[in-house]
Amino acid sequence: MAGGKKDNKVVVIGTGIGGASVSALLAKEGMDVTVLERNSFPGGKAASFDREGFIYDTGVHWLARGEKGPMGEIADIVGAEIKFQSMDTAMEYTTGGRTAQLSQNMDEEESLQKLFEEIGVLPENREGAHALFKDLSRERTPEELEVLDEVSFSDYIARFVDDEQLNRVLDGFTGMYMCISRRAASTGEFILCFSGQAKEKNLCYPIGGMRAVPVAYLDALESMGGELRYSTPVEHIVIEGGKVRGVEAGGFIPADMVISNNGVKETIALAGRHNFPDDYVAMADNLRLSFGAVSVKYALDAEVVSSPLSCYFPDFRDEKLVERQAAIFVPVPSAADPSLVPPGCQLVLAGSLAPPGLEEPEQAKAICNEMLDRIENTMQDLYPNIEEHVVWKIRTDTRYIAEISGRWTGEVIGIAQNRHQVGRNRPSSTTPVQGLYLVGADAGGRGVGTEMAADSALNLWRMLRNA
Ligand SMILES: Cc1cc2nc3c(=O)[nH]c(=O)nc-3n(C[C@H](O)[C@H](O)[C@H](O)COP(=O)(O)OP(=O)(O)OC[C@H]3O[C@@H](n4cnc5c(N)ncnc54)[C@H](O)[C@@H]3O)c2cc1C
Repeated sequence: MAGGKKDNKVVVIGTGIGGASVSALLAKEGMDVTVLERNSFPGGKAASFDREGFIYDTGVHWLARGEKGPMGEIADIVGAEIKFQSMDTAMEYTTGGRTAQLSQNMDEEESLQKLFEEIGVLPENREGAHALFKDLSRERTPEELEVLDEVSFSDYIARFVDDEQLNRVLDGFTGMYMCISRRAASTGEFILCFSGQAKEKNLCYPIGGMRAVPVAYLDALESMGGELRYSTPVEHIVIEGGKVRGVEAGGFIPADMVISNNGVKETIALAGRHNFPDDYVAMADNLRLSFGAVSVKYALDAEVVSSPLSCYFPDFRDEKLVERQAAIFVPVPSAADPSLVPPGCQLVLAGSLAPPGLEEPEQAKAICNEMLDRIENTMQDLYPNIEEHVVWKIRTDTRYIAEISGRWTGEVIGIAQNRHQVGRNRPSSTTPVQGLYLVGADAGGRGVGTEMAADSALNLWRMLRNA
């Protein structure tokens, strides 16, 4: 590493999963790390808050692999303590008026047979459906994956089967993993998300709420001598002669290296577009985002929702339901961690996808409000007594996600994992500016949301320690 590790003064912008984890990893290398966070709390999209005895998350989170994925690997390296609670059943899934219990064994014939029967895959399509899942779970070389990165997931499915009910299940999976449509999604990326989860069978939630993950990394950072400043927005990344010099954050802070957790587009704006080659700026301008999300967070004085994790699509054959309801993803974090709520109570998050941010703020607000009303209708239809048990209820929209993550828009993941923006086509953590790096879900990582942000941090750390 140029200049010796101790001489490297590193400023990390942001404490999302990516920023928090890379700061601890670099502190572990003996670097002088300062983390600047614009919010008064840690975690970005992975933040959690306390309200009247309940701890709830910014997002609507469930984790694909927990300690068996990159978040666990980072915790081991930096000595952070995170406890992930694994789920016995994977998920209750309802579509087309039928409900299936999805097990964690999605790579096993028996579980698939049960799923296809319960969800109503047509008998003549079952052979193709089995072949599809077998192919999704098989080991692949990096070269094979690279080819599939650029194949639309819809086109890939069509090689095996075309079944309406199965397509809806796969829509749900693509929505949950990547928050984009089946048509736009990259097959290679889907396979990585699916096979990782199917192999590890560790769908889980962190004890203490989602914030437990960034907090554990930041505690590790501070225990190794790193500095952490909240309520310190970086106003400008200072670049001279094509090299980073530091940041302006209520005063100049010099740095040999600046690592931004603030997304590709926003980082370019913070540093000044003129400091980057035109083709890099054009690449960033053209990047597409994942969908945003709206959610209703319910603090309940009783256990109203029975399944710890469910995904519900309105029955598409019933026009009234289609008009009134929304497709919802419903995790119950208190099922994994009862300490998040007072005894006998329940925390339920009900989320749905929405456009990440529109040019017209009033239009965006109206779309989000309509989606939020639909979520509430759906929850009331599914759990008719839910309103009687509400202690408090919060409706959050895409502006809320944007505010909490310091982004312009309220996308769930970051830039979309479509077939033009994954693998070798995803923005790298290195930028054309010497000493300026990106970390987080936007750059240099793969997988499901939080795990992609953690993967990005691991990859950047490996690259910097070998430099
Ligand atoms: C509603 C919702 C549901 C989700 N569900 C899941 C799920 O079930 N499973 C899953 O794995 N993932 C899920 N995700 C996605 C996941 O949360 C994100 O992909 C991941 O947390 C992004 O992390 P990140 O490191 O890229 O940074 P972010 O979380 O975007 O954090 C960026 C940080 O940088 C800070 N910052 C920005 N600008 C500045 C500045 N100028 N100065 C200082 N600080 C700054 C921000 O305040 C923030 O703390 C969900 C997200 C949302 C919103």
